[in-house]
Amino acid sequence: MADLCEQGSERAQQMLDDALTEQRIKAARSPIDHLFCESCDRPIPLKRRELLPGVETCVDCQSIMEQQGVIRGR
Ligand SMILES: [Zn+2]
Repeated sequence: MADLCEQGSERAQQMLDDALTEQRIKAARSPIDHLFCESCDRPIPLKRRELLPGVETCVDCQSIMEQQGVIRGR
């Protein structure tokens, strides 16, 4: 009895792992993730990309653009 139960939960765990792996692969292939700043070509910190998915510029360029009024309401 105990053996059957364990086998079942192991399979469920395996399916969960597969789903998570697939999700990670999809996220890694996402075209909206910019590794480098569109404006100055410097790397965008991972923290910033996690906070702002699809962000295209580094903090410096973002603030410059905001000052110049290029980007509004963000
Ligand atoms: Zn920049």
